[in-house]
Amino acid sequence: MTGEGLKNRGRTRADVDERRRAVEESAGVSLPNIGSLSFDPMVASKNIENMIGAVQVPLGFVGPLRVNGDHASGEFLVPMATTEGALLASVNRGCSAITASGGAASVIVRDAMTRAPVFRVRDTRHAVEVAAWAESNFERLREVAESTTSHGRLLSAQPFAVGRSFFLRLSFSTGDAMGMNMATIASEAVARLLERETGAVLISVSGNLCVDKKPAAINSILGRGKIVLADVTIPRQVLEDKMHATPEAVAETCYRKCGIGSSLAASLGSNAHAANMLAAVYIATGQDPAQVVEGSMVTTTCEVVDGDLYISVRLPCVEVGTVGGGTRLPCQAEALSMIGCLGEGKASKLAEIIGAVVLAGELSTLSAQAAGHLGSAHKALGR
Ligand code: NAP
Repeated sequence: MTGEGLKNRGRTRADVDERRRAVEESAGVSLPNIGSLSFDPMVASKNIENMIGAVQVPLGFVGPLRVNGDHASGEFLVPMATTEGALLASVNRGCSAITASGGAASVIVRDAMTRAPVFRVRDTRHAVEVAAWAESNFERLREVAESTTSHGRLLSAQPFAVGRSFFLRLSFSTGDAMGMNMATIASEAVARLLERETGAVLISVSGNLCVDKKPAAINSILGRGKIVLADVTIPRQVLEDKMHATPEAVAETCYRKCGIGSSLAASLGSNAHAANMLAAVYIATGQDPAQVVEGSMVTTTCEVVDGDLYISVRLPCVEVGTVGGGTRLPCQAEALSMIGCLGEGKASKLAEIIGAVVLAGELSTLSAQAAGHLGSAHKALGR
């Protein structure tokens, strides 16, 4: 069977089995575990092509984690999927210290998904004219964008021009969807209107100023998806009992590692391992794991305040949804239901919980490094 032949087949269980058998025969291997599915492949029809089965990633939980957010309030058992031994044990320890300290504050301070089409214009003057047209016709752009979606809203259209290239960075509110498909479809409609009215020629609906799945300072500064801030003060005694480290040692570790080390490396973001928590929660709950790239640009700060440890995280790009994308898959939907985040009206709650989980992971790892326990923990739990 040719690649095209395989691709064009359906997604019933029989289709998936037949396609997998063709792959087994072609590759000369047997794939019984990949073929062992707990769900009807039809539910993944919008999630994958050429489906031959599924890989299972071990799933655990951390918590109870107390979160004092605007949308997430209470104690949560948070699902995390990973193959990295020691990760959940570490984050769990952070959750325990946070909960014993009264919980983490976690708030969303901005919420906008972006797409930035790129156009070819005649020259600089034309670029300026196109920008002026976009500004004075924002209502028309908004109407055409919102004609493609019932939940998406166009919030702003920011122009950037370089020579004969013109970018319009469009920001959308996307309801409870992560919103990348929604924003892309709406952006295409906006771009076609702009083309018709200004003579600018659309080159790509994504001009890499969006910026999706690439590390970029613009995302780190302006945010993409939800900007989440989370913090907690851990009393000295709680820190010493649960983490075996002092506030001074953790704060100094954070300063020299996240502050100076990240600055010397010219890192985008300055944190201990925020990507670990994001990846594990994203995989568990059906988020797009490639967006850990921009999600990882977290800033972690620690200070000694009145003898206790104050720790905070700023997550500039929490691109998550509780409808659409991978959230409709049965295992991922079950994981979302563990934290009461399945379906409409839950995306902000999910983002706040994620902020608190990242805080827990940062607290635990910085404490382990301050106490000199990182290597021994991984040796004991991960090998
Ligand atoms: P989606 O599943 O494509 O769209 C969300 C759908 O849910 C829309 O049809 C929306 O309807 C509907 N909906 C129902 N209730 C809603 C609510 N309360 N809030 C928001 N929408 C609601 O999901 P998406 O979040 O836009 O896109 C996520 C997918 O995009 C992921 O699978 C990801 O991997 C992929 N992705 C795409 C690109 C790209 O460039 N296209 C880039 C990166 C990732 P209405 O639209 O009518 O409101």
